[in-house]
Amino acid sequence: MGETCPFGTDVQRYWDKRFEYFLRFNDGIKIDKEGLYSVTPEKIALEIAEHTKGDVIVDAFGGVGGNAIAFARTGKKVYCIELDEDRKSFIEHNAKVYGVDDLIHTIQGDFFAKASTVSAKTVFLDPPWGGPSYKESGSFKLNNFSPDGTKILDYAFLNFDEVVLMVPTIFDFSEIEKFDKQYDLQDNVINGEIISQTIYFS
Ligand code: SAH
Repeated sequence: MGETCPFGTDVQRYWDKRFEYFLRFNDGIKIDKEGLYSVTPEKIALEIAEHTKGDVIVDAFGGVGGNAIAFARTGKKVYCIELDEDRKSFIEHNAKVYGVDDLIHTIQGDFFAKASTVSAKTVFLDPPWGGPSYKESGSFKLNNFSPDGTKILDYAFLNFDEVVLMVPTIFDFSEIEKFDKQYDLQDNVINGEIISQTIYFS
């Protein structure tokens, strides 16, 4: 049997995947409950980083740094915004574990308040999906993101040239027609299973 999850049995299935999330998990990765069920697996984060064109990225919803670390490992400079003070410190710590802390500048605060304080053309958006039970609604709308996805995208299109958004597999794509933007779609596959998708707006 595997190790018992320190954050509760309800998230044991995420804990069991911790080495998928961070190959170097045992080198001292710091994580909390929300960070655990929200983090982008390392393989997928690297694929997203390779597909993203810009060299300077605002990672708007930093979490514990899964995406930010991958962006930095592909040589990009990252402004990583995170509302939660603890997770912001975990991003800094985890970036050191991967030796990329020199490329990641963390900012504690609200994306809408902080994003315009930095100079970058690309924004990566992985806003909260509302916790592990997000699938129960059957279909996922922009207003199921928290903060509201429409507000996030309106702001992103106004302030950035390249906008990248990660969505659940049950995302309702008719929701983004109103923005009248072209986009590419990437399936995020791990062990043969699509676990999310990434939208690259152009
Ligand atoms: N991609 C990240 C996971 C993101 S989870 C990773 O791989 O680690 C989403 C994060 O957004 C949570 O940590 C949450 O605290 C943060 N968040 C929520 N609202 C926010 C806001 N308004 N501004 C910045 N961060 C926010």
